[in-house]
Amino acid sequence: MPERHYRLCLLPGDGIGPEVIAAAVGVLEAAAQRFGFAIQTAAYPVGGAGLQAAGDPLPPATLEAALAADAVLLGAVGAPEFDCEPPARKPETGLLRLRQALGAFANLRPIRHVPGVGSVPLKDELAAGVDFIIVRELTGGIYFGRPRGFDPDRRAGFNTMRYEIAEIERVARVAFALAASRRGKLASVDKANVLETSQLWRETVNRLAGEYAGVALEHLYIDNAAMQILLRPRDFDVIVTGNLFGDILSDEAAVLAGSLGLLPSASLGGPVGLYEPVHGSAPALAGQDVANPIGAILSSAMLLRHSCREPQAAAAIEQAVDRALAEGLRTRDLGAPAIGCRALAAAVAARL
Ligand code: NAD
Repeated sequence: MPERHYRLCLLPGDGIGPEVIAAAVGVLEAAAQRFGFAIQTAAYPVGGAGLQAAGDPLPPATLEAALAADAVLLGAVGAPEFDCEPPARKPETGLLRLRQALGAFANLRPIRHVPGVGSVPLKDELAAGVDFIIVRELTGGIYFGRPRGFDPDRRAGFNTMRYEIAEIERVARVAFALAASRRGKLASVDKANVLETSQLWRETVNRLAGEYAGVALEHLYIDNAAMQILLRPRDFDVIVTGNLFGDILSDEAAVLAGSLGLLPSASLGGPVGLYEPVHGSAPALAGQDVANPIGAILSSAMLLRHSCREPQAAAAIEQAVDRALAEGLRTRDLGAPAIGCRALAAAVAARL
């Protein structure tokens, strides 16, 4: 048994989830062999699969296994047959509960343009070379602030945006450290010209900047940031922002990458990192070997980088993905001629 040994909790979930997770595990096994570490995997049901197996979208055994693992790799949840379930029994509720239980306050979404891939509805020369990561605060801000609700006559609704210094500090530190390990540029996005939470956000980020001398910090208002990531996307390295702004900005930025099926994510901050492709369970594609496995494969690369401290293996997977795509290997969502999910994953593994 190699000295470096990682226990991974697999949560394939629903729809195309099991297919893309199987694809990612094949690539992880190839990386383990090449770089001299071992992975031990065990799969547990979540989402609709959890409801079917144990009547709960996050069965206690699944949560226990996730908390005991070195990292969690999740496929996707959601199945049409559960759409009419009450909120507590919806597959998506299982995922939200899992993120909460794992204390994942920093959501990392890399946006990278791979030349010639996908249908970027923008000029190719604008998207070429784009490579940045959005760090979105995931467990605070207006999505969780209280009070929230409706006036008794329901003629008004209200929400509260609230950030404590400690919440801003911990996510900003993740972003500063990430920028320091990349090209040394951090853009902090807020609305400090209008919102008190944003003024506190900006003050806090500025105070931390002194500890990260190698990182060049800029501040952008959210409205301007929404424009700048399309006008000069190559300039960005790491972007840090609150929950609401990050939600919107990360979907906007996804357009630069070409296809939903290509995008990975990591949710960090608690004792165990959670890694998942950005896409959903795409039920119409399930079981046909046509799903794009790249989002899941790149999520597994993030898992190796952030939870296992295997940066070389992570980079090798990313380069193998680039090579396979550059050679014209692609699934149906990226155009014709297409190969299957399994064949694309095998091609990536072979290029490691
Ligand atoms: P979706 O991401 O599943 O699909 C959106 C579109 O992208 C579809 O046309 C689909 O065919 C395509 N697509 C998605 N992933 C792909 C891949 N890997 N390869 C090729 N094509 C891909 O989103 P949706 O249709 O809005 O939702 C379907 C289900 O997934 C719902 O139950 C929803 O709640 C759930 N969902 C789950 C997550 C998650 O688990 N994190 C995220 C989003 C949606």
